[in-house]
Amino acid sequence: MVSGLQFQIEKSLHEKCYEKAKELFNLNTALIQTARDKAVEILKSFEEKRKEESVLKLKRISIRFDKRCYSFSKTNNALTPYWLTLSLNRKERISLPIVFGEKQRQRIEEALKGEWKFAAVEMVKRDGEWYAHFILKKVVEVPDEPETVIAIDRGERNLAVAVAISKKNPNKPMKGNFWKGEEIKRIRGLYNHIRRRLQEKKLIKKVKELRGKERRKVNQQLHIVANQIVAYAKQFPKPIIVMEDLTGIRDNFDKSKELNRRFHSLPFRKLQIYIEYKALLEGIEVRYLPKKEVRNTSKTCHRCGHAAQVNGREFRCPKCGLVYNRDLNACINIARRLMRSAGWGSLAFEPADEGKGVKTP
Ligand SMILES: [Zn+2]
Repeated sequence: MVSGLQFQIEKSLHEKCYEKAKELFNLNTALIQTARDKAVEILKSFEEKRKEESVLKLKRISIRFDKRCYSFSKTNNALTPYWLTLSLNRKERISLPIVFGEKQRQRIEEALKGEWKFAAVEMVKRDGEWYAHFILKKVVEVPDEPETVIAIDRGERNLAVAVAISKKNPNKPMKGNFWKGEEIKRIRGLYNHIRRRLQEKKLIKKVKELRGKERRKVNQQLHIVANQIVAYAKQFPKPIIVMEDLTGIRDNFDKSKELNRRFHSLPFRKLQIYIEYKALLEGIEVRYLPKKEVRNTSKTCHRCGHAAQVNGREFRCPKCGLVYNRDLNACINIARRLMRSAGWGSLAFEPADEGKGVKTP
């Protein structure tokens, strides 16, 4: 999709920089084009998240080589079999030996066998070393007619909450599950503590080094949770995952205290990205519900549809008397809203069982 803003930036970058860059640097036009596209992406995401008076700063610079500008091959070289050749212009090429970690090597081998398509390579410089990020693509098939809606939500007190609803029996949510994110909280707490100690000793450089280490540890945990969530989804027939669309959520920061608190607590957006990519690899479609569809999911009774004020851990419905885990109630509402917007199942609010439809741990 091309938004008006994107079009404007693209046009002005093209007019003001493209021709000039072609004159100044003796580079493939394809390279200048990808540089322009990248600049547009950066500006666009900056505009979307922008807070007042913020200034665009690039923490890291990367160079994108699309298919026209690189080749990758496996050789008999003793140093490493993997070589990446970057073409800068008609005459200049650079060949670089690439060393992979074990996981990445397996993926690259799959790509060499044709299971993945090579899209682009991003060259990133970090701490004086160059890293090649391979962007691989794969077309996956997802079922036309999903049978089970799996809602994944961030909770008030949990990193993630999941619930499954079958289209055949929409009034009966199944197997609610929680991921508390305790390990992530522990890592964060630990690093906060170390950071404070280092700041007291004015070891600012050390503080910066810690940031990457902390991020890697947190990401590792997010991968574990994402794997568990996808495994949870896979136990149901023809699952489809639905989550709240959190892109550009920063815009609403000051407007909603509730959102603010939830968003700050744990890195749910990053978890969503991991879930999406792992789910797709398993042939599970992922849909995002737009913000307006997710409104009041935490304040609505999933059994009777009544809107209530919530305090504390439990959702208590003053109308039908439902007492339910708060995060799970919100999650069920997300699944229901997807079903409603897709026109699946009857969603008249009729009481299911007496008491609780799902056991709350
Ligand atoms: Zn109710």
